[in-house]
Amino acid sequence: MTIFKKIIDKEIPADIVYEDDICLAFRDITPQAPQHILIIPKKEISSLNKVTSEDKELLGHMLLMASEIAKKINISEDGYRLVINTNSHGGQSVNHLHMHVIGGRQLSWPPG
Ligand code: 5GP
Repeated sequence: MTIFKKIIDKEIPADIVYEDDICLAFRDITPQAPQHILIIPKKEISSLNKVTSEDKELLGHMLLMASEIAKKINISEDGYRLVINTNSHGGQSVNHLHMHVIGGRQLSWPPG
């Protein structure tokens, strides 16, 4: 079981900013910018590599949620970045699919 599953099950606390039947969004414990939120599906999917066509609606829902959250926390106009780290080269450290919503400062590109 991953730490994110424990957050979904409310076994460990998190600063939750949005929740519905499909997804949960909460503040990253080690923020990389003034605003850093993680959006995760409640369904246990270990990484983007494991999604199937059955997950189309879920993936679309996560993107819509990112757009809504960005508006809610007032970063949509200045801009923000969505990141899905996948496996080792992607720097994925928790094996439960998650999307980072990062903003609140100028972000550099390309990533290191
Ligand atoms: P990854 O590196 O897998 O793309 O991102 C995992 C993220 O989860 C990291 O940014 C890390 O700070 C965050 N994280 C790890 N454990 C916890 C936790 O217990 N609570 C919260 N809120 N974030 C966590």
